[in-house]
Amino acid sequence: MMMHPQWDFALKKILPATQILNDPAACISYSYDNGRHQAIPAAVVLPQTTEQVQNIVAWCQTEQIPLTARGRGTGTPGGSVPSSNGLVISFEQMNNILSFCPESRYMIVEPGVLNQTVQTLAGQKQLLWGPDPSSQAYCTVGGNLAYNAGGPHTLKYGATKDNVLYVEAVTGAGELIKTGFAVNKSACGYDLTRLLIGSEGTLALFTKICLKLSPKPESSRLLQLWFADEQTACQAIATLTQTAVNLSALEFMDRNCLTLLKTHSDLIIPPTAQALLLVEIDGLPTELTFYSTKIRTLLPDLLSCEESTDPKHAWAARKKLSPILRKLAAYKINEDVVVPVGQLHALLQTVQEITQQENILNVNFGHAGNGNLHVNLLLHDSAQMPAAQRCLEKIFAAVIALGGTLSGEHGIGLEKKTFLTQAYSAPTLDLMYAIKKHFDPHNILNPGKLLP
Ligand SMILES: Cc1cc2nc3c(=O)[nH]c(=O)nc-3n(C[C@H](O)[C@H](O)[C@H](O)COP(=O)(O)OP(=O)(O)OC[C@H]3O[C@@H](n4cnc5c(N)ncnc54)[C@H](O)[C@@H]3O)c2cc1C
Repeated sequence: MMMHPQWDFALKKILPATQILNDPAACISYSYDNGRHQAIPAAVVLPQTTEQVQNIVAWCQTEQIPLTARGRGTGTPGGSVPSSNGLVISFEQMNNILSFCPESRYMIVEPGVLNQTVQTLAGQKQLLWGPDPSSQAYCTVGGNLAYNAGGPHTLKYGATKDNVLYVEAVTGAGELIKTGFAVNKSACGYDLTRLLIGSEGTLALFTKICLKLSPKPESSRLLQLWFADEQTACQAIATLTQTAVNLSALEFMDRNCLTLLKTHSDLIIPPTAQALLLVEIDGLPTELTFYSTKIRTLLPDLLSCEESTDPKHAWAARKKLSPILRKLAAYKINEDVVVPVGQLHALLQTVQEITQQENILNVNFGHAGNGNLHVNLLLHDSAQMPAAQRCLEKIFAAVIALGGTLSGEHGIGLEKKTFLTQAYSAPTLDLMYAIKKHFDPHNILNPGKLLP
């Protein structure tokens, strides 16, 4: 689909021609994310300033054109997939670090800065930014905010919501707002920062973000805890998270993960092991031996425990799981549900029962210290899609019954929006629609996403 000549004319009044893409090849590149959906936009705009963002929003409002924000398109539920023939606003050229204030522990960045860039710069002053998604080398801070991204260290350092002091953003009504201050404590009105984080580009477009930084630990240690069964491993997760042992990460891998890692990694796996916990502790070097001994004493039912001599290697094995599954299955569905930590084993059992009933291969791993389980359904062909859909419906219902939530970090996008009616009551959803209407009265920002 070619861009309408009137659009071309209007956009060139707002932006230099070099910041507008409309040839079909470029539009296809911006038509999908890391999930299953695709829609080709009529054009892509690449603003470099907040003023340009405001002008684009104002024009879309007047012309009623759907506008979808994009970081680097690494998201999974379709949040950055545009409306067909709509406009993509890609933040890849708004990628400057605006200021870095180590003594007050904040950094102000444009939304297109990569997560890894922030970590590298912060690390030079012995600081870190909490959210550490596995995709950090490729994904943007703007995308992290829009999905409330997290990672293994969310357990200790929090998700994106816990690590942003304020944002500047252009609402769907075209107004530039600033939601807070560069301070660590504030009791000053409604918390719009946290309302916008996780809003998936449906309420406002971030143009400036003030990140809260944390001190980087001096040292860390990674323990590999092997269990003879998954239930004992889940009990261990609950024991560890309710005890002061200074955990910085706690990752779970089920028996099917171990089977895969036997052939796809060189981890030495005890023959009778059916579950693995990767437990990271961090702090002063002198504390670590104390915590690691305490962990072993707390868990008498352990099959074995060893300290990883090569933590990078062990983390690489964990991070390899997702790409391995993608290669093995014709279709991979990856959900990132969360339940209260004490309910993890109940969830695991339910997922295994549901998938067995439908004859769908299932592999589970995840940030178990947060109760966050990556439930993977592996399909050998598209004929299994209806069965997979039935599994998802039952799994989401089980998660909600266990007191959990549909997504811990990946977001809702197009994939899960229909399930929101199960998660929230009608009055709660009505309030969400009212908020959307207020921020975006013409429904131009990422229409059709997040809300059912
Ligand atoms: C290999 C791999 C591993 C991953 N691991 C993790 C993980 O460990 N944890 C995790 O949380 N996620 C993970 N993800 C998912 C993904 O990387 C994150 O969700 C990331 O935050 C998306 O960033 P992005 O820049 O690619 O955003 P995109 O995918 O481009 O966009 C994401 C959402 O943000 C919106 N958006 C983008 N920029 C703005 C802006 N300036 N203003 C308003 N809205 C905006 C978009 O409209 C969309 O709704 C992984 C993905 C891959 C491919």
